[in-house]
Amino acid sequence: SSALVWFRRDLRSFDHAALYHALRRFGRVHCVFVFDTEILDALPSRSDRRVEFIWRSVQELDAALDALSRRAGGSGSGLIVRHGRADELIPALAAQLGVEAVLSNRDYEPAAIARDRRVAERLAEARIGFEDFKDQVIFERDEILTQGGQPYSVFTPYRNAWLKKLDGFYVQAYPVERYAAQLAPKAAGERVPGLEELGFVPTNLAGLRMPTGMNGGRALFADFAGRIGRYREARDFPAVKGVSYLSTHLRFGTVSVRELAAFAWADGGAGAQSWLGELVWRDFYHMILWHHPRVVTGSFRPEYDRIAWDAAPELFAAWCEGRTGYPLVDAAMRQLDATGYMHNRLRMIVASFLTKDLGVDWRRGERHFADHLLDYDLAANNGGWQWAASTGCDAQPYFRIFNPVTQSLRFDPEGRFVRRYLPELARVPDKYVHAPWKMGAADQTAAGVRIGRDYPVPVVDHATARERTLARFAVARD
Ligand code: FAD
Repeated sequence: SSALVWFRRDLRSFDHAALYHALRRFGRVHCVFVFDTEILDALPSRSDRRVEFIWRSVQELDAALDALSRRAGGSGSGLIVRHGRADELIPALAAQLGVEAVLSNRDYEPAAIARDRRVAERLAEARIGFEDFKDQVIFERDEILTQGGQPYSVFTPYRNAWLKKLDGFYVQAYPVERYAAQLAPKAAGERVPGLEELGFVPTNLAGLRMPTGMNGGRALFADFAGRIGRYREARDFPAVKGVSYLSTHLRFGTVSVRELAAFAWADGGAGAQSWLGELVWRDFYHMILWHHPRVVTGSFRPEYDRIAWDAAPELFAAWCEGRTGYPLVDAAMRQLDATGYMHNRLRMIVASFLTKDLGVDWRRGERHFADHLLDYDLAANNGGWQWAASTGCDAQPYFRIFNPVTQSLRFDPEGRFVRRYLPELARVPDKYVHAPWKMGAADQTAAGVRIGRDYPVPVVDHATARERTLARFAVARD
């Protein structure tokens, strides 16, 4: 008997639900990854850090599967890598290999669900089974419900129910190694195509502090494990190394969420508990997306789709390019452009700024993030944007509007983060670095910067914008 394991956002050879089930039940297990042109063709640029991250991780996975097979006494294995439409290639490959079933790990995004349905139908025509497994979250779909049997739409009671349900069973690793001798040898001539063959060019990924693949995930996790005790205090300060930087690895499954959750749960300290709460947010937004796929295009609270946003093309461009005149907003947007990463506190600040200060529809900011974030994840990104825009479930109340200067003073008091990404403000005194337009001419000369020439004057006045936003949201409230 034989099966095909289809890897997607689970690029690892350990603690892998679909791989484990395939190896346990079938005598011969093939593994495949498809560079899906349906996804790749829609990307805005041929230079994309995500594609390169995946490509590097796929190379590592290919070698890791081979090593895994040999360690288990097998004759070597690897990953079959294809480039084209997954919904056509997977059924074709399954038929060619003569497998009984295709196994994969569940994806909760509406487009992925539709794709998997098409694949399952085509496989069924050839009498080949399709099975999917929970792998990328701890609790999925209907596993955490209110006492009335409804999905939660408020986070805190969901988290409490999640924590109550958690036990060793849900974070136990799938012992893939034990059955790895069943991995099928790779056919002669199979190889991972080059990045250029996929139609992409290298990015600056190799120069960033973002190691790829399982080894990269392990290195970041080991580094964070030593700092997790300080997470609660340090997590809100973008100039400090306070967070885990594991989001991209969680996105592509080069780490196991079970292993991370088990670690934090066992640690039990205040920092670890607080971090575990972030993994709960991740499950929460996946659950919301699965129950309410309409959030992809519409507000979670439909009344907020009555809001009239401004077109404001120039303001939107200033936001995208990091030249709004508000240093922390601009530094954050330049960090996104330069690295594909943005600190969580800054994501909240720039999302609030776009929607509440510039009056621009959250969907346009969401799309910009989707195009640029290395850790882009539909569920978390949509949830985060709707939270910041106050249109989502359990969102920030619309009248609580972040003041970009006060936020900067609180979370980057010495302007260390601002100066890292805005070298033009390097010599501006601390007391002006959060609001450089307040500097007089003499201070500007001393700091070697002319506001309005070397760095923009603010594109909007925060106090005025705030009043406009309160009026804008009144439409939805009435
Ligand atoms: P840590 O603080 O170390 O957190 C650990 C992990 O918990 C993260 O890796 C992530 O998987 C998860 N997590 C943390 N916060 C959240 C959250 N609010 N929602 C869901 N999961 C969370 N996260 C993404 O992974 N992809 C996105 O596309 C994304 N877009 C966002 C957009 C906005 C407007 C906002 C406000 C937040 C967004 N987030 C997104 C959530 C969060 O900002 C990132 O997960 C976090 O900054 C990643 O850095 P880290 O791994 O060091 O996080």
